[in-house]
Amino acid sequence: MWLPASVLCLSCLLPTLRGQDGGRASLRRSGDHSGRCQYTFTVASPEGPGCPAGDSGAETEALLSRLTLLEAQVGRLVGGGEGGPAGAGAGDAAGLGEAYARVTGERDQLRQDKEHLNRQVRDLMKRVDELSLETEALKQKPCRPSPDAARDQPGNSRRPASNPANNVPSASYQEMKAEVTEVPASFLLPDGGHNQTGCGELVAVGDPVLHRKADSITGKYGVWLQDPEPRGLPYTNKTVWRIDAVGRDVRQLFAYEDMEQFSRGFPMKVLVLPEAVESTGAALYRGSLYFQRRLSRTLIRFDLASESPAARLDLPHAGFHGQHPYSWGGYTDIDLAVDEQGLWAIYSTSKAKGAVVISKLDPGSLEVKRSWETKIRKNSVGNAFMVCGRLYTVASYTAPNTTINHVFDTATGAGRAIAVPFKNKYRYNSMVDYNHAQRKLFSWDNHHMTTYDVTLGAASPGSS
Ligand code: CA
Repeated sequence: MWLPASVLCLSCLLPTLRGQDGGRASLRRSGDHSGRCQYTFTVASPEGPGCPAGDSGAETEALLSRLTLLEAQVGRLVGGGEGGPAGAGAGDAAGLGEAYARVTGERDQLRQDKEHLNRQVRDLMKRVDELSLETEALKQKPCRPSPDAARDQPGNSRRPASNPANNVPSASYQEMKAEVTEVPASFLLPDGGHNQTGCGELVAVGDPVLHRKADSITGKYGVWLQDPEPRGLPYTNKTVWRIDAVGRDVRQLFAYEDMEQFSRGFPMKVLVLPEAVESTGAALYRGSLYFQRRLSRTLIRFDLASESPAARLDLPHAGFHGQHPYSWGGYTDIDLAVDEQGLWAIYSTSKAKGAVVISKLDPGSLEVKRSWETKIRKNSVGNAFMVCGRLYTVASYTAPNTTINHVFDTATGAGRAIAVPFKNKYRYNSMVDYNHAQRKLFSWDNHHMTTYDVTLGAASPGSS
């Protein structure tokens, strides 16, 4: 390290010497008797060969002085000959420090890059989730056939747009086939299936069977039903009907071809109701949807085939919009029900002071044919339904293991407490309705649309 540095510094000096003398100069270095360095210059004169006369001694002295200064400067720069191994160690340490600083900087940069990539991954995953939700929402929308398709298939506008998935057999389809075969033949008679002989008291309710889970907030509660006594085409007892009851202007009535289509989420048609529906008390019977008009005690019969109102009547003295709801609230003041004996309204009046009133309705005109007043506080029970002319109330809409806790028989005008186990599996049961053709309860429990098998005992004296 000593030698190259010396040469480098001396070579820097030579041009200066050349410039001053106006000619070429050479330098020789040798030791003197005292062990010091001695430098000798030879300078070519621009005027002729040989050294110039005159003050050459002074010039030499000046050069020697400058060279001495130069030697001292070079010695200082390279450590004055005292460097050696120690100097090299310091240089190595400095190099390591520099390398360490560089590696540390690269590490920090990589960390920043990693964090940036992680953020991108998180953003992408969030976007994937959003797209999945959008896909599900699109699946919910009814398929609209194109004008060309409509021309190609006149009179077939109720069919859904082609969906390849509809042609794929699925496990759920097999399950529903099995379920349909369980319908008692006595309920499939051409006259609408009126069969009183199977009636008896409710003795057991099975576990809920899930058919569909709503995937948005509008499916928190609602109504879903099948018509136990359909009135010919285009709808059958296999058609599934659904109303998402969340919202202030509920008018959409979704129709699904069958339970399999219902479970997979493709409605074949959406009917728009002429009035907004109040709450979850609607019923289906003999080709009509019966529902309470929002913010009123008006009942409407909506004919499904013609898609138009067929009857409209106020339910006399009935409380509405939060006056006498079930315990879960939700404006469940008027609950319509269907059983083997026909169409019923379950509600209360100011005269009854919140006790459950049952009225038998004319399914054509909606007129009240007869009413019964019970001793059951309507706001103390979670829901109610009719089976064989008897009212049954569900004790709780949230308790996962609750009971059917009251029965009131319209044939005798008497009621009593009972305790038939009932499960609110999803802990927010907003609708319980009986379907006598399938002998099942339909319920809407916190986004989950379920059915329960019902077991009836022997007919008791006085029952119809
Ligand atoms: Ca009900």
